[in-house]
Amino acid sequence: MKPKILIVDDKIANLVALEKVLANKNVEFIRAMSGEEALMKVIENEIALALIDVQMPEMDGFETVEIMRQDMQHLPIIFISAIYNQDYYKIKGIEAGAVDFINKPIVPKILQGKVRIFLELYEQKKQLEEQNKALLSAISERLRAENELKQHQEHLEKLVEERTAELVLTNKHLIEAKEEAESANRSKSEFLANISHEIRTPMNVVIGFSDILASKVTNKQHKNYLNSIQTAGKSLLTLINDILDLSKIEAGRLDIQYEPVNPQIIFTELQQIFSLKMAEKNLEFIMEIDKSLPLALILDETRLRQILLNLIGNAVKFTDSGYIKLCANKIYRKNSRIDLILAVEDSGIGIPADQQSLIFESFRQQDGQSTRKYGGTGLGLAITKRLVEMMDGEISVSNNPNKGSRFEITLRKVEIATVIQDVKQDKHFDLNNITFEKAQVLVVDDIESNRHLIEEYLSQVNLEVLSAENGQNALLFAEEYHPALILMDIKMPEMDGYEATKRLKDNLNTADIPVIALTASVALNEKTKLEAHGFDGFFLKPVNISVLFNELSHYLKYTKKTLTTQAATTEVETLNPENIINLSELRKKVEQEVMPLWKRAKIMMKMDVVIAFAEKMINLGNEYNIPVFIHYGEPLLESTKIFNILYIQKALKEFPDLVKQLNV
Ligand code: ADP
Repeated sequence: MKPKILIVDDKIANLVALEKVLANKNVEFIRAMSGEEALMKVIENEIALALIDVQMPEMDGFETVEIMRQDMQHLPIIFISAIYNQDYYKIKGIEAGAVDFINKPIVPKILQGKVRIFLELYEQKKQLEEQNKALLSAISERLRAENELKQHQEHLEKLVEERTAELVLTNKHLIEAKEEAESANRSKSEFLANISHEIRTPMNVVIGFSDILASKVTNKQHKNYLNSIQTAGKSLLTLINDILDLSKIEAGRLDIQYEPVNPQIIFTELQQIFSLKMAEKNLEFIMEIDKSLPLALILDETRLRQILLNLIGNAVKFTDSGYIKLCANKIYRKNSRIDLILAVEDSGIGIPADQQSLIFESFRQQDGQSTRKYGGTGLGLAITKRLVEMMDGEISVSNNPNKGSRFEITLRKVEIATVIQDVKQDKHFDLNNITFEKAQVLVVDDIESNRHLIEEYLSQVNLEVLSAENGQNALLFAEEYHPALILMDIKMPEMDGYEATKRLKDNLNTADIPVIALTASVALNEKTKLEAHGFDGFFLKPVNISVLFNELSHYLKYTKKTLTTQAATTEVETLNPENIINLSELRKKVEQEVMPLWKRAKIMMKMDVVIAFAEKMINLGNEYNIPVFIHYGEPLLESTKIFNILYIQKALKEFPDLVKQLNV
């Protein structure tokens, strides 16, 4: 759009003349022939510059500009005048609001120059306005965008707030559900622990009596039946014990009981326990025990034994040839502590890498593993892992580079103890070699089957049993019969074992009778508590026949049986070949039937071979009337039933001295 110049004059000729002088095609001229018209034109148009004649009839130039100025402060106005007292009018004009003066007659160059300057100023002003407008629009655009962003952000914040509040609620529900599930799980474990405990007591009775029956039954078929009962009973008891342990751990009822323990004793015991099984499978048992391991460590002996029993038991189970290795090492820590590192390694079937973490879960076994061949519950390692963790340790499994597996346990910061608590095991006690002098033993237990079980055990070794079913009766019986010893259960209705014993010891007539506690509690302070009540000794339920006789031998008189094979090589019973009818036939049988059996038994220590060998000796003894053979075979056969490995090894070793006398 062209800039507009307002030209005001009451004479048309002047207007035409002005337009002519300025002669600019880039400008639009707006004409006004009076002050009023000029004011109208200014309102209607956007004027860049006004050229106004001063002398006009009615409203002159000054008056027009004065009114114009009220609305338009910035419009450049130039007066055109022919009045000679110029200064007076110039001042008046400036006061009215003009910016410049042009004198008449107009000098074209001056007019053109001034107009050009004002037009340029107008152009610049326009440009500035444009820029300002653009700037303003940019600013407002920016403000709008910012505003939008802010709204968006607020919306998001609100959304997050809402979502969080939901989430918090869901989380709360989840936590509640989790707590509920955990509590239900604890109740389940609690229930399982209780029921397993209840099952275990009668199971012990079943196993106890079938063990006693086994020594009495002679009929082969009955023996087989009994054997099945024993095997099934034992595997059921293992399962129950495993479930009991796991559920006790899960119900938070299993505490680790720390006491000074000699780890070396545990290792030796384990070696003894597994020697038969390993010999049966012809496996080598290697012990790599750090010789400088401290003699006493603060550990939970029962749980440590259980852990190693599980690991070595598995190693034996899953290894058909080669070796089992038990390693023990230590790393010294600060403050008399060590990290104890135990490892059980085998050369067995091994565990594929992808199964190595799974086998620590409950009821988990290797995929596709033969249940018939290996059996098991899949609980052993789950229990082992939990126990290790409860002792602040870790367990891991890896492949043994030689084929097989290696389980490693690290127990951290195990305290080294300065004292070893007395070890009450008599290692050399052999229950087969002793018989007690006739004496009366009072058995006090509220459960009848428990009393019967002990009665059976004791009657085998020449002891007479009196029984009482509670503490009250025990006092009466003790006073009446004055037995040589009392075996006292602790938990009984009416009067418990603690109370009964205290009264027995307070009574002068009975104070001298030794009282041995039968306790199921393995609590650390149990021993102190028993001593405080006057007990002379104690042993743990379930009753182990060997431990029972061992304990009794401290209080009752006994004699050692003279067994042929118990003696050293030189003391082998002598045999008179000249008394044997059909000696050559016997020699032949010994050579062809007995010697091969003996060799197999000695090399492999397989129990069924040892049994066959012992039975063969007894049969030959009967057939050829050779008591020496019977005396050799019978205790050997007995030893197989109680797994008395030391005795079996000794007897097998002495056999050549016995047959030498036949000149075979
Ligand atoms: P169980 O032996 O009663 O099945 P465990 O929890 O003791 O239960 O072991 C779980 C499984 O881990 C076993 O069934 C077996 O598949 C695997 N396993 C454990 N020890 C060994 C081992 N020494 N060699 C090979 N496999 C093993």
